[in-house]
Amino acid sequence: MSVPDLVARDLAAVWHPFTQQALWPSDDPLVIDRGRGAHLFDTDGNRYLDGVSSLWVTVHGHGEPSINAAIREQAERLDHSTFLGLTHEPGIRVAEELLRVAPRGLGKVFFAGDGSSAAEAAIKIAYQAAVQRGEDRPLYVHCAEGYHGDTLGAVSLGGVELFHATYRPLLIETRMVASPGIMEPGQSRAERAAQVLAEMRGVLHREGERVCAIVVEPLVQAAGGILTHDPSFLVGVRRLCDEFGAAMLVDEVATGIGATGRWFAVDHAGVEPDLMVVGKRLTGGVLPLSAVLVRDSVYEAFLGDAASGRTFFHGHTYTANPLCCAAALANLALMHERGTVARAAAVGERLGALLEPVGEHEGVREVRRVGTMTGIEVLPVTERTGFAVCSAARRRGVIIRPLGDVVVLMPPLAITDGDLDELVGVVAESLDEVLA
Ligand code: PMP
Repeated sequence: MSVPDLVARDLAAVWHPFTQQALWPSDDPLVIDRGRGAHLFDTDGNRYLDGVSSLWVTVHGHGEPSINAAIREQAERLDHSTFLGLTHEPGIRVAEELLRVAPRGLGKVFFAGDGSSAAEAAIKIAYQAAVQRGEDRPLYVHCAEGYHGDTLGAVSLGGVELFHATYRPLLIETRMVASPGIMEPGQSRAERAAQVLAEMRGVLHREGERVCAIVVEPLVQAAGGILTHDPSFLVGVRRLCDEFGAAMLVDEVATGIGATGRWFAVDHAGVEPDLMVVGKRLTGGVLPLSAVLVRDSVYEAFLGDAASGRTFFHGHTYTANPLCCAAALANLALMHERGTVARAAAVGERLGALLEPVGEHEGVREVRRVGTMTGIEVLPVTERTGFAVCSAARRRGVIIRPLGDVVVLMPPLAITDGDLDELVGVVAESLDEVLA
């Protein structure tokens, strides 16, 4: 079937996420047919480098044989069984493997499906744990420009006006402080961290007894535009949580499983959170699986007899689906075997070096990067400048996606040097074309 035919059928039947459907048909839609390594191929056989790792998930590459084989084997043995009150070995093993690489102090794993659904579970766990300790803490503290997913609890803790403002009347009550990743003129990252921590402290002085959790995206506010902050911010949040009896809830959906060049972003700051949300890369970018890792003391607040009402009445039909778990186990095994986290750190270093000239471009405001997570903020020359740069890259065989005027690069963690050089080369040419 030809691309125009498929696009026509798509338009007749499908509604795409985060997509203005009125513009999509004129934005040169691609129909993706297959993937191999760092590349995607459309139905006409054109090859594209996957510069955003299929929305920040691909670890080793598309079509990784050992992940595919693990899914096939698991499908032959057990395709699905509920995790509500039953268990299975793949689920147990993923939990064990996650705890093996997680920051110390985290002792239990609660599974979900997507990042949003795990964020949602974490938000409820933090509140219910406080209730069951006999505390009245219905408030959360979070940062402007934060993003934790699109379900309403996650939106409540979000701070990206474009995505979240519409829903304000529907949301739970929170206290939002400034973004630690947007510096005032002349301000250093460390100064900004201290300033936002002082603002948080002010909020906690007034209402700390009512706050169940401080919620942060550690080191990188990703969807907010790859806004990066100083690790001292995380150290300060940990201290405030301890001082005011709030849980430290970190959302590692975007940063976790290697993207920053460490297993988790909090590892850069040596901080141990109370709740940690992971998703995206957990299965190597193949199937949806997410989880909340919690400290034992949080978990213990949920123990009691049937009449105590302390059960966590929360879970999804496909929670810990065995095929997803098999993919996660194969991915994590490969990551250990191949040293993928160290490779991601090396990829990040190379990206940084290759992007140095891009940072000098007069149309570029700033290049921000932690590990492989990269944002190139351009000075607007049209209504959709970031989009125009990504379109120019598409014509040169590279798929990337902007966040407003921030061009995001997030290659597969195991991308080869050759593919990385091509990615940056095409991005530099595309910036030249659009910003000339
Ligand atoms: N948290 C963060 C930090 C994210 O970046 C995202 C997705 N980009 C989510 C949560 C939501 O994850 P999902 O899209 O899988 O629901």
